[in-house]
Amino acid sequence: MNRDLKKLISTMTLEEKAGLCSGFDFWNTKAIERLDIPSIMMTDGPHGLRKQRASADHLGLFDSVPATCFPSAAGLATSWDRELLRKVGVALGEECQAEQVGILLGPGANIKRSPLCGRNFEYFSEDPYLSTELAAEHILGVQSQGVGASLKHFAANNQEHRRMTTNAVVDERTLREIYLASFEGAVKKGQPWTVMCAYNQLNGEYCAENQRLLTDILKDEWGHEGFVVSDWGAVNERADGIAAGLELEMPASGGVGDQKIIDAVREGRLSEQKLDAAVERILRVIYKAVDYRKPAATYDMEAHHQLAREVARESMVLLKNEDRILPLKKGGRIAVVGALAKQPRYQGGGSSHIKPTKMDDLMVELAKAGGSAEISYAEGYTLNTDDMDNVLLNEAIQAAKDADVTIIFAGLPDRYESEGFDRTHLGLPNNQMKLIEGITAIQKQVVVVLSNGAPIEMPWIDDVKAVLEAYLGGQAMGGAIADLLFGDANPCGKLAETFPAQLSDNPSYLFFPGDGDTVEYKEGIYVGYRYYDKKKMRPLFPFGHGLSYTNFEYSDMTISKSQIEDTETLVVTVNVKNIGKLAGKEIVQLYVRDVKSSVSRPDKELKGFAKVSLEPGEQSTVSFTLDKRSFAYYHVGLQDWHVETGDFELLVGKSSAEMVLTGTVHVKSTTSIKPRYTRNSTVGDIMENPLAAPIIKELVNQTPFGGSANTGESDESSSDMMAAFLNYLPLRGLVSFSAGKLTEESLDQVLVKLNGGL
Ligand code: BGC
Repeated sequence: MNRDLKKLISTMTLEEKAGLCSGFDFWNTKAIERLDIPSIMMTDGPHGLRKQRASADHLGLFDSVPATCFPSAAGLATSWDRELLRKVGVALGEECQAEQVGILLGPGANIKRSPLCGRNFEYFSEDPYLSTELAAEHILGVQSQGVGASLKHFAANNQEHRRMTTNAVVDERTLREIYLASFEGAVKKGQPWTVMCAYNQLNGEYCAENQRLLTDILKDEWGHEGFVVSDWGAVNERADGIAAGLELEMPASGGVGDQKIIDAVREGRLSEQKLDAAVERILRVIYKAVDYRKPAATYDMEAHHQLAREVARESMVLLKNEDRILPLKKGGRIAVVGALAKQPRYQGGGSSHIKPTKMDDLMVELAKAGGSAEISYAEGYTLNTDDMDNVLLNEAIQAAKDADVTIIFAGLPDRYESEGFDRTHLGLPNNQMKLIEGITAIQKQVVVVLSNGAPIEMPWIDDVKAVLEAYLGGQAMGGAIADLLFGDANPCGKLAETFPAQLSDNPSYLFFPGDGDTVEYKEGIYVGYRYYDKKKMRPLFPFGHGLSYTNFEYSDMTISKSQIEDTETLVVTVNVKNIGKLAGKEIVQLYVRDVKSSVSRPDKELKGFAKVSLEPGEQSTVSFTLDKRSFAYYHVGLQDWHVETGDFELLVGKSSAEMVLTGTVHVKSTTSIKPRYTRNSTVGDIMENPLAAPIIKELVNQTPFGGSANTGESDESSSDMMAAFLNYLPLRGLVSFSAGKLTEESLDQVLVKLNGGL
């Protein structure tokens, strides 16, 4: 419906306007009866709906209406499946409509900087391209149902430790290429109705009052049309927030924030136009939510449960499968050990914790899928302590002795991983480690199924035959695990993050979680595989890795052009064939490498991915479109993305560590960067510019360096040292070494020529 919002705002009092900029309570916006302005509800998010039934604050975390619990984002991301993410979004949107929720607080697009971050299970990836693509689909799915999404937590909220006060110190290039890039695509493609600002500070300013972040970049550069909502309690100085582009404060501030806005306007510290603009953005979303409301909406719980099972199957990652122990035979004796088999960890802790509509019982599902297999169970350890219980351990060892195959269910208990705090190590609890040790000592046919929201170390990896990473697989996790273990479904997830061999290998290790409130992102752009690649360090499992019960062959890579300008697009195709005996899905990854660059760049970066489903013997052509951004780095001086003219390698692979096909394209930059030379520019730098080189050569010839190497002429008598000396010599040095032949004035004239006339 078309409404004249400006006119409506002109009838509002200052108090009403300020009031609309904060919540009514924990989950609702304020209604203004006098003006017929309705209220809308927003709730968590992101992988299921958490609409609280009773208490209206965070304390009622566990009392919410039943909703479908999908795998959390860490698991959704391992599907690498845009369509599937969209479907999950649609289902979430339907559930919101059925519960009269106007905005779902998710998805989270923060980068997994360290595997220790307690909230990594709620985030997609260590790679900004993968993360932003999937977040966009999630948003588009939710919003297709007339429900808004809230992309969170903007930005650089990469740890839970002191999350409400830390100051993330991130250099501009790193911010743009890694941390903001993870939001950028989702904002531009998904146009989320709301973006939630993070608790922390970014480069010395709270995100809640960071004008550069919330207005200059989000609104002006990326074109965000919706409003920004504070993370719950993230507001520092309310009036500064309005000025910076934070429209809605949540939850209600008991009038404190509203009064600060009123005072700031009255005292002339905040312009009323700014407030009006904030109110207009809020009203636009409120009315959109109201116009799209479907009061009689319901949803099919069973269909959503089945979708949750499909998603879980698509997300789990087969990390190892020696001697093809999996899929298991549907017969013989199977021992299932580990408390997590009966008390599954299927979702993370904190604000995303929901109450599922139903839960698959893993033991029942294994019995259903296992045919004539005799399946026994032993608890092995308890989840509420790390201490070993010898009785449980011995029972489990006995069960394993009596079996042909043992499946160990291991992972992180709730107390290890949650919103609110970070882990301090990547180990499993001691009692689980002892269980794995005890069992592998007497049984060689061992499969480990893991439930965890983020990587763990696996010192026992060589002692087990197979590992299935189930992540936090949602309410249908049990069924999905049974499907995959017995081969009723073929594993097709791949890691969206690197599993390091040990925590100290992680690039942020020395700088995480910072000193006091300061956390400096000193590893820069080298996050995840960008670091391990460059360091040539073998992780436990690389980014993009995941096995299948079938095999795929890649062939016939084509590149639409051998040379492009950076304003053109390039199409890369590759044929993928299923050469095994089972139907399966393959995730094809395209990475780009800048062969020669004047700035430090990662070895390669993910710029395309596609998931294809293939019957045995079937072949399909996968195609990727690359554009300027696929080749660019963020040029801080230009304040823009920039491609350096040169060759780029295109690498098509099965994981970040397994490239199968490569090709090359020459990309020509259409941006000419006019260099500005000063008396401190080095001879070497200027000599790289073919137009400037002759001028400098003439100058050099007037000094004792005349004829030294790197002036383009080879001179046997000039030593390497002299050549290097000249290379790094600032222009002013030529004057000092010229024995009076050159003067500062003549240098100035040369500079005028270099900067003006070239
Ligand atoms: C979390 C958000 C969440 C909000 C509302 C905050 O503590 O950081 O992710 O959406 O609470 O529950």
